[in-house]
Amino acid sequence: LPGTQAPERPARAPRRPRTKKTVAILSRKRSLYSTRRLVEAVKERGHRPLVFDTLRCCLLLAQGKPRMTYRGVEVRGVDVVVPRIGASITAYGLAVVNHFEMMGVPVLNPPTSIARSRDKLRALQFLARAGLDIPRTVMAHDRSNVRRLVEEVGGLPIIIKLIKGTQGVGVMIAHTLPEVQTILDTFWDLGQEIVLQEFVAESEGRDVRALVVGNQVVGAMRRKAKKGEFRSNIHRGGEGQAIELPSTYMEAAVQAARVLGLEVAGVDMLEGRAGPRLMEINSSPGFEGLEGATGQDIAGAIIDHALAYAEQRAGGLRVR
Ligand code: ADP
Ligand code: GLU
Repeated sequence: LPGTQAPERPARAPRRPRTKKTVAILSRKRSLYSTRRLVEAVKERGHRPLVFDTLRCCLLLAQGKPRMTYRGVEVRGVDVVVPRIGASITAYGLAVVNHFEMMGVPVLNPPTSIARSRDKLRALQFLARAGLDIPRTVMAHDRSNVRRLVEEVGGLPIIIKLIKGTQGVGVMIAHTLPEVQTILDTFWDLGQEIVLQEFVAESEGRDVRALVVGNQVVGAMRRKAKKGEFRSNIHRGGEGQAIELPSTYMEAAVQAARVLGLEVAGVDMLEGRAGPRLMEINSSPGFEGLEGATGQDIAGAIIDHALAYAEQRAGGLRVR
C-alpha cells in the first residue's frame, strides 16, 4: 500500500548466532520495500545480508566448476539465496538462480518452481492435476470457433488473461462475443498467448492473498478492487485487509505452494461458492501490503525459513 509504514516491532537485541551466515538477496533495487525488510530481518538475526542486483551477476562457465562474479568480484561464501525476480527479467533471473544452484548454494525458491509459477497456464496445469479447484480455463489458438471456447468456460462474461501478465496488467473481462473475438485476434496477431477463463462472479472484485512460507500461512489478507474495477491487485488500486483464513483456504494455499515446489509463495484465491478457487501463485511476492494490513513480520518468517533451509541442505538433508 503506498505510504504504509513498516509495522512497529519491539526493539530486540540481536541474537548472536553460533555461525554467522551470509544471506544473498537477489533484487533489482535495494530500496524496494520487501528487499529492505529482508535485509533488516537478516541483520536482526545477527547474520550478514548481501543484496545482488540480478542483472549485475556475471555467470562464468568453463569445464568444471561454475563461477560467478558480481561487479568484477568473485562470489563465494554465500550460504543461501533469496531471489526476488521481477517478471521483466524472468529469463536472466532464472539463469542466475540456476547458476547459484549449480554452485551448490541453496536457493529459496528453486528455479524450476519459479519458472512454473511464471507461466500462468503451466501453474494451473499443476494445480488442476493435484485436484485443487481452479476457475475453468481454456488455452487455444483457433480463431474459427470462439463461441465454443466461451462455452467451455461457462459462457459470458469471461476473463481473458495474458499468459505472462502480472500485477493485473493483461487481465481483461469481455461481455460479448465480438468483444472476445477482437481481444483474441489482437493478442494472437501480436504473438501473445492468452487463456480464457470462467468469470467467478461471486468473488465480486475481491480475492484472498495468502503468504505461504514452508508449510505455513504466515499472513493473509483480502484484497478488494476499487470501485468500477474487477481486478483487486494492490497495483490496480485495490485495498488489503487482514483476515483470519478458514482452514480450507489455508490448506489449499499450502498445497498449492507444495505442488509447485515453492518455499515462499503468494497464493491468490477467489472466494468461490464452494470454497477457495486457486487463481495464481507468485514466487516473488511483495509483502508491503501484507505487512501493512496484518502487522506480521513476514520478512522475519521468510529469513527464518531461509536459514533453516540452508542448514538442512548443508547437513545433507532435503527439506520436507
Ligand atoms: P495478475 O497476475 O496480473 O495479478 P490475476 O490472474 O491474479 O493476474 O488477476 C488479477 C485480478 O483479476 C485478480 O486479483 C482478481 O481480482 C481478478 N480476477 C482474475 N481472474 C478472475 C476470475 N476468473 N474471475 C473473477 N475475477 C478474476
Ligand atoms: N504486487 C501484487 C499486487 O499488485 C501484490 C502486492 C503485495 O502483495 O503487497 O497485488
